Amino acid sequence: ATPTALMVGTGRGAQLGILIKGPKVLESTRRVDTIVLDKTGTVTTGEMAVHDVVAADGESVDDVRRLAAALESASEHPIGRAIAAMSEDTMNVIHLGIRSPRPQVSGVEDFANVAGLGVQGIVEGHAVVVGRPRLLADWSQHLDASLAAAVDRAHGEGRTPVAVGWDGKARGVIVVGDTVKPSSAEAIARLRDLGLTPILLTGDNEAAARSVAAQVGIETVVADVLPAEKVAEVQRLQAAGKVVAMVGDGVNDAAALAQADLGLAMGTGTDVAIEASDLTLVRGDLLVAVDAIRLSRRTLGTIK
Ligand code: ADP
Ligand code: MG
Repeated sequence: ATPTALMVGTGRGAQLGILIKGPKVLESTRRVDTIVLDKTGTVTTGEMAVHDVVAADGESVDDVRRLAAALESASEHPIGRAIAAMSEDTMNVIHLGIRSPRPQVSGVEDFANVAGLGVQGIVEGHAVVVGRPRLLADWSQHLDASLAAAVDRAHGEGRTPVAVGWDGKARGVIVVGDTVKPSSAEAIARLRDLGLTPILLTGDNEAAARSVAAQVGIETVVADVLPAEKVAEVQRLQAAGKVVAMVGDGVNDAAALAQADLGLAMGTGTDVAIEASDLTLVRGDLLVAVDAIRLSRRTLGTIK
């Protein structure tokens, strides 16, 4: 394509709500045959709801709720925002807006985000860990029978169990769930029409991932992956000769977005993801990813 055509294409992209880093990006967009989609915040709304709080035998549900909410008030993760918003009078199903203000971080010391696993820090003098059961297992905090049962139930419902522990012991499980964006299924059908193979890639558990995949018409699911494994999955596809687009929104997606032949960030996501990507979908809508691929093909004369 001529430089003029590429400039026009870039301008047209801006009108469609697609921010393109440079004219060359359109060339890689055209060749893409595989599209890897992050789950939380990309295919789903990222507005998580808290469905249940379970305490281990001999522990108090209020303590689990209070310490987890206090720690997560320092987190920007969708799960963290949902847990931080729990309050004692409004249990069960609390919905949070994507850009809703976070409560003031109070009383959390030495906060650390363990990307793709959870968070840890000191609250009320306790060393608190909140995240995937395997994060707690790294600290030798193992789930008792009632917590293990809560994890199994959550998996059975296609939800995400978040384990809560402090001072060396697992004390509770908080069950959260997410909702598929209204446009995701249509967008995935249209990506298929353009000849792209969709793959769902997530740090969440297999059952929750399968449930979302079934709702939007994706057959291939890679679940339970850490951020570095997201990069490795993109590399594996590239080594198999695929030209890979990756769509994501989180800090945990940044390295995979940079590795992909084409990185698309949700404009509603974190700045780190936006910086690592070639294209930004301003409204955070997957249908705009379809527009981006059509635009590049049209600009480069592949389709009319
Ligand atoms: P995804 O790939 O779906 O965007 P992430 O890689 O961000 O998910 O997270 C993977 C998993 O790590 C989550 O499903 C959750 O179990 C856990 N996790 C991540 N961040 C947090 C947090 N702030 N609080 C609790 N759990 C978390
Ligand atoms: Mg995400």
